[in-house]
Amino acid sequence: MDISFHGAVSGVTGSCHLLNTKDSDGNDCNLLFDCGMFQGEQMCSSKNSEKFDFDAKKLQGVFVTHPHADHTGRLPILSKNGYKGKIYMTHPCVGLSKLVLEDAHHIMVEDSEKCGSSVLYELKDLLTTFSNVEGVNYHEQIEIAPGVTIMFHDAGHVLGSAFISVEAEGKKIIFSGDIGNDNVPILPDTEPISSVDYVVCESTYGHRVHESVNKRSEVLKEVIYRTIENKSVLMIPSFSIERTQELLYELNHIIGQNADIKIPIFLDSPMAIKATELYRHNSNYLKFDTPILDEEDRDFFSFPNLRETLSREESKKINNTPAPKIIIAGSGMMSGGRIMHHLIRYLPDPKNTLLIIGYQARGTLGRKIYEGAKTVNIFREEVKVRATVKAMGSFSAHGDMHKLTKWLTPEDGKLPEKILLVHGDQEAKEVFATHLRHEFRTDVIIPKYGEKHSL
Ligand SMILES: [Zn+2]
Repeated sequence: MDISFHGAVSGVTGSCHLLNTKDSDGNDCNLLFDCGMFQGEQMCSSKNSEKFDFDAKKLQGVFVTHPHADHTGRLPILSKNGYKGKIYMTHPCVGLSKLVLEDAHHIMVEDSEKCGSSVLYELKDLLTTFSNVEGVNYHEQIEIAPGVTIMFHDAGHVLGSAFISVEAEGKKIIFSGDIGNDNVPILPDTEPISSVDYVVCESTYGHRVHESVNKRSEVLKEVIYRTIENKSVLMIPSFSIERTQELLYELNHIIGQNADIKIPIFLDSPMAIKATELYRHNSNYLKFDTPILDEEDRDFFSFPNLRETLSREESKKINNTPAPKIIIAGSGMMSGGRIMHHLIRYLPDPKNTLLIIGYQARGTLGRKIYEGAKTVNIFREEVKVRATVKAMGSFSAHGDMHKLTKWLTPEDGKLPEKILLVHGDQEAKEVFATHLRHEFRTDVIIPKYGEKHSL
């Protein structure tokens, strides 16, 4: 069998890995794991429109680890290229992926009307994609062909996220998808792995050690008190799926414990509002260490100070609310969405704070601000960055070096024969590869785009 890499090899976006194996009758079996969009870099949009260097019609199955666009964004292009087979994902991932892909299509159409950029697929391709989606449960054994079985396991990264194991030709391969951080209050921990031959592993934070999750409540509380004292604005660009819900959980907790915090909090992202609703409806996939319901609240995602601004009109009215106030808005990497308008308005004031709680890919506005840019360009407007910019690693939805190493160590102690590192910046992959070679004394490979590796 062999595996080839069609994304997430130079950076963290565009995940798309093809496994070529044989079933027990000796027939070819081509399986695709994730089909994500390239994001961030300028060249990314053209990379998304490039042809796949495999034949979509010859795939026997497509498997999706989780709904984030960098893992799902090119699924409709697969349908456009003639893929008519099943697309497997966990049940909660179905609703969330629909949200992500409908939003992506909407933005693409809007951008094309504004500046003539290309629309990568039609609405009918999106509909075809979802007509082929099949929801599965964790630990359900899926037999794709005689002797080729697949299983989804909880990755603890977002609601319904999975790492996927494949058994074929007497070997076991695991595709990590994105592996969650440890001790996330709302999600179950990542499932451990057991005896495996090969692992295709993400490495977003393979070179880092995060601050403890337990600290984030304290840090957040400090920032909120400073915002109230200064009568200023706290902006939190947030990813609609997971980071927003974790943030709401923390805020609900902080406000519940500190009656003097009476600051309005705006959730200014239609997608995050809709995703939160899906979290509510799939609470059996969540983990709680405090009760979700109390007498006054509907659940821990809503509290008295929180205002959800679904419509554009409601969003515009946020400007009229005097400071202090907190605004949570997408996109998480500040590459579009309602946060852009708030950045233009509030970044130039040194009293305000921009709190970064998620990974910022190279080439994004978020990365520029994170790296200390003093002036940025937003909608062709020059904006001075005078606000305090603070980053918190503890909200990361990705495991760090310790977590990934622990996860890669199977319960029965037999280490993988080969680990292939994807989904990370070059530096992260190299540092993590050196660490793993030292710790595991195993073969660690950093694949390149389109490269094929025999297993
Ligand atoms: Zn992800």
